[in-house]
Amino acid sequence: MAERLSPRAILDKLVSFPTVSSDTNLPLIEWVQDYLTSHGIESHQHPHETDPAKAGLVAHVGPDIEGAIVLSGHTDVVPVEGQPWSTDPFEVVEKDGKLFGRGTCDMKGFDALAVWAIVEGHYSDLKRPLQLALSYDEEIGCTGAAPLIETMNKHFPRGSSTIVGEPSMMGAVTGHKGGQGFNVHVRGFEVHSSLMHTGVNAIMYGAKLIEWANEMNAENRAKEAGPVAATFEPSWTTVHVGMIEGGTAHNITALDCHFGLDFRIVPDESRDDWIARFKAKVAEVEAEMQAVVPESHIALQEKFYVPGLMPEEAGEAEALVRQLTGDNASRVVSYGTEGGHFQDAGYSTVICGPGDIAQAHQPDEFLSVAQFEAGKGFMQKLIVACS
Ligand SMILES: [Zn+2]
Repeated sequence: MAERLSPRAILDKLVSFPTVSSDTNLPLIEWVQDYLTSHGIESHQHPHETDPAKAGLVAHVGPDIEGAIVLSGHTDVVPVEGQPWSTDPFEVVEKDGKLFGRGTCDMKGFDALAVWAIVEGHYSDLKRPLQLALSYDEEIGCTGAAPLIETMNKHFPRGSSTIVGEPSMMGAVTGHKGGQGFNVHVRGFEVHSSLMHTGVNAIMYGAKLIEWANEMNAENRAKEAGPVAATFEPSWTTVHVGMIEGGTAHNITALDCHFGLDFRIVPDESRDDWIARFKAKVAEVEAEMQAVVPESHIALQEKFYVPGLMPEEAGEAEALVRQLTGDNASRVVSYGTEGGHFQDAGYSTVICGPGDIAQAHQPDEFLSVAQFEAGKGFMQKLIVACS
């Protein structure tokens, strides 16, 4: 019989693959698939739409029926360049009760526990199935989750609850804001600045959109928060511009201005409404530009979309996690996850995973041995609950 690896041995292996979001994750996916296959577990790769160097992986154990609990993790990690690491980031180094390595906390620790639980579940007499969903590109906009869910449902009976193992110190996190990002390109018309009334200064028109973001933040902050929004810090939808470039000289009206404008939307406000309001403002500014030079324009490119996670009333996933962890605190977080995609696809969804988000993306990222053990205990109880 094939060897059953410990969670720690699986973690060592997963961390050894440098699956930075910009690079391939295939060696990791193939290793997991081979490992599952060696135990007779069916799994399927989900190839990336455009990048042949990336794939997701889905697996199912237990009876061939609907209602599985899905264990969802991403396989990509953030870069290590420029970070002062004291150890090799792609090797798990245990020191002072901590497991150091890129992704140990976010979130290969959970991935390792999920792979371990799938194999343990396979050898248990499960009455309720477990499914594994390993994705790519989470760190660059959660774009891998939605198509992965489709692939999962093509091959296996549909699951009903999802546990997204982002670091939450093994507590239940039931909500987060949604994210919506745009690349904005304002295309103006160049003239000598002494004749600026005949040109279209892309920077100065772009500034009107940025000022709109300031106005929206002030307005949102001033209004009373809805019941879900009130649990967030801050309790309102924020509009943020984090980078900008444009123009070529002091005395030329700028031809181009590029900036990124991102929304973090509280779950009780509508993404569509915010997009519509933003586009209405863009149309207004564009009309002013085109009144001067008809060819000038503003182009919007959707950069990412991370649906918010809405706390569920009497959610099954939340109830399950509370039952297994004994955690009764209500908690929402400000980081985005793939949970919103699962919830959008009809799954009851909760976030629960080992480690502290404060460790994620840091040099010398670590997962405490105690949290990893707590995660293993959680998986053991999960298997019992499904048996
Ligand atoms: Zn993560």
